[in-house]
Amino acid sequence: MLELKQLYQGFRDPQTIASLAQDIAKVARTLKEPINIMEVCGGHTHTIMKYGLLDLLPDNIEFIHGPGCPVCIMPKERIDQAAVLAQQEDVILVTLGDMIRVPGSKGSLASFRAKGCDIRPIYDPLDTLKIARDNPHKTVVFFAIGFETSTPMTAVLLQLAEQQKLANVFFHINHVLVPPAIDAVMHDPNARVNAFIGPAHVSVISGAKIYRPAVEQYGTPVVVSGFEPVDVMESILRIMRQKAAGKAELDIQYSRAVSEQGNLAAQAKVEQFFQIRPQFRWRGLGPIPNSALQLKPEYAHRDAELRFKNCLPVKEIDDHKACQCGDILRGLAKPKDCKVFGRGCNPETPLGSCMVSSEGACNAYYRYQGIDSKEQHHG
Ligand code: SF4
Ligand code: SF4
Repeated sequence: MLELKQLYQGFRDPQTIASLAQDIAKVARTLKEPINIMEVCGGHTHTIMKYGLLDLLPDNIEFIHGPGCPVCIMPKERIDQAAVLAQQEDVILVTLGDMIRVPGSKGSLASFRAKGCDIRPIYDPLDTLKIARDNPHKTVVFFAIGFETSTPMTAVLLQLAEQQKLANVFFHINHVLVPPAIDAVMHDPNARVNAFIGPAHVSVISGAKIYRPAVEQYGTPVVVSGFEPVDVMESILRIMRQKAAGKAELDIQYSRAVSEQGNLAAQAKVEQFFQIRPQFRWRGLGPIPNSALQLKPEYAHRDAELRFKNCLPVKEIDDHKACQCGDILRGLAKPKDCKVFGRGCNPETPLGSCMVSSEGACNAYYRYQGIDSKEQHHG
């Protein structure tokens, strides 16, 4: 059995990080073109900023922070829908962690909670079952978010609700998929990405295989990386070596947790309950076909979007005029390019979603670089 400690032991060693930095610099000197690496996942953005890895890297490597945080990519209209659900009589809205602070067009779920709506932030989705059992005369809606990582847990929750015949549990599904987001980034006419650091948690479930089409279609190396600083530096080195050799391959640096095939049991569980949603609008990236999931018709009786169809707003709502989350999520701007970064917008009073979650690029820059500290020298 893998112990938590094994996942990071030795992966924060400063000497190892310094020696990897030297190796990266050596290979970087052989490259003719600068390289733009997108770390898709917000967890990697966090590591890069927290450990100051940008300062250890040569100038011809630039990082583009990708759309890999499920909180950051949630469009306002979905948050508005959650707020409307919470305002319905006898509804309890249950949601995970940071979601409660993301601003919708009329305020965050936290602000609706302050006005008296029954909104309950939880850390374990299975708590939904207890809430439903304790409140048999209320409708409990689970606002489900997350990438491939968290979908299996929603599937298990649904399965248990069915088995326990808890007819008062409903789902508002916002589960999204990484590969279509990579496609959207690469199809942007301004795309500048020429290598990817692949997400870790997502890949534990889905397997690294989901990135193979991107490697083949775009000729970009994808290295699936662990979250520790040594992991990220080693992944960068592996990308650099591929680039220097003129190769584009799928590589798993995080082999202590990720395999090519992933967790087949979890994938089967997801397939049992979910199907591809024809279209989902991502904050920043816009509508992306086949980029999200929805419940299968057999589970329509659990679907909050159908149950509350008549009252849910569907109008698309854009971000605050000053907010550049969209450009940041597409890799076209850095947090400090935003005029309100750290001033009008900070983690206490976020204007945009990238400032809310600890995995959001703006939040990571704010926490680890401050407002006026030196600019990122690679961007
Ligand atoms: S859930 Fe894991 S893989 Fe997905 S964005 Fe968060 S840290 Fe990255
Ligand atoms: S600093 Fe705030 S307003 Fe600016 S892009 Fe980031 S989240 Fe949006």
